[in-house]
Amino acid sequence: MTDAPREKPSHAAMDQFRSEGGELLIGGIPLTRLAARIGQTPFYAYDRKLLTQRVAELRASLPAGIKIHYAMKANPMPALVGHMATLVDGIDVASANELKVALDSGADPHEISFAGPGKRHEELRQAVAAGILINVESFREVTELAAIRQATGWSVRVAVRVNPDFELKSSGMKMGGGPKQFGVDAEQVPALLAEIGTAGLLFEGFHLFAGSQNLRPEAIVEAQRKCFDLAVALAAHAPAPVRFLNLGGGFGIPYFPGERRLDLSSIATNLASISAEATQKLPGAEIVIELGRYLVGEAGVYVCKIVDRKISRAHTFLVADGGLHHHLSASGNFGQVIRKNYPVAIGDRMDSPASDTVSVVGPLCTPLDLIADRMPLADAKPGNLVVVFQSGAYGATASPRGFLSQPDLVEVLV
Ligand SMILES: *Cc1c(COP(=O)(O)O)cnc(C)c1O
Repeated sequence: MTDAPREKPSHAAMDQFRSEGGELLIGGIPLTRLAARIGQTPFYAYDRKLLTQRVAELRASLPAGIKIHYAMKANPMPALVGHMATLVDGIDVASANELKVALDSGADPHEISFAGPGKRHEELRQAVAAGILINVESFREVTELAAIRQATGWSVRVAVRVNPDFELKSSGMKMGGGPKQFGVDAEQVPALLAEIGTAGLLFEGFHLFAGSQNLRPEAIVEAQRKCFDLAVALAAHAPAPVRFLNLGGGFGIPYFPGERRLDLSSIATNLASISAEATQKLPGAEIVIELGRYLVGEAGVYVCKIVDRKISRAHTFLVADGGLHHHLSASGNFGQVIRKNYPVAIGDRMDSPASDTVSVVGPLCTPLDLIADRMPLADAKPGNLVVVFQSGAYGATASPRGFLSQPDLVEVLV
């Protein structure tokens, strides 16, 4: 790195992938060969080995005994969930359809949990039948679960999702603190716990999730510490001992220029002290963190093909066969306030210098369909492959795939 004063911030190096002969390798396969194997662009490809490595490295960094759950809404592709199920300690689902995928993947129902603000009666019944842990988010859910228990005689495992009285600072997306549709406000939790006890539900713990996409370790440390202290305070009102304490996660990955990978060391130290304290204050409780994008985001790419190269008033546009309808977040329309470029490359010209400043756009009739805005890329023409890195999470299923009735994408795990 040079430290020239006016240097523009750069993307983090996408060095999780290697390239060979100018081609990006995904799962060891050169990109054009993989595209030929798949038989079409656009596609998402997820690298199995990178998923394995990520979980292994995370385990090596965190204190032993911290359980790692995969929040599968980040990427619910069944083959990928099946692979993740062999690596992590549990799966967090957010709908009955996700629950089906988690169960099919072979995950132990005891280690599956279900969160979400609008669980329908039928979904709650399915969750109870499956024997998973339900993160209760309202008084209505407790009433319905009590009725399901009455009607079936099945035991009902619940944790309480708490909306804390603080926020995860510098989160990309805040999901706790203040008025929120998620969880039950901390001050209402004692009353909810009493109802859980009266209804004969099996209380097993607390779930706190303050926010997502955080790249500041000190903010995550502070949130996990506060979540732990809040859980300890609330445990005094619980009808049974805490067995699971899910402290959320929110670990981010670098998407935009200037962002760097999260340093886990202080988070690990903090979790070690929380773990040690828990043996006194919440004996028998397992500490769980739940992560989505951190586990899978960096292992995936989105690939589309250039179909046209146009110059409009001295500005070069590469028009690709994919875009916003497949990858809403790379287009900047999934919660971003100011649009910034994802890391993008010409995946079959990895050895060529990024000498051309161009915009990569998709085929949709809207200016929002923008993959890269005035970005230096290798000189490219129709037929070359555009790669969007950091695309393993919140891609295919977080995009409006029906918009403009373009051909759908394919997903592969390589
Ligand atoms: C979305 C979500 C996650 C995963 O968030 P990431 O930013 O992908 O890690 C975890 N827990 C809950 C409750 C969620 O809603």
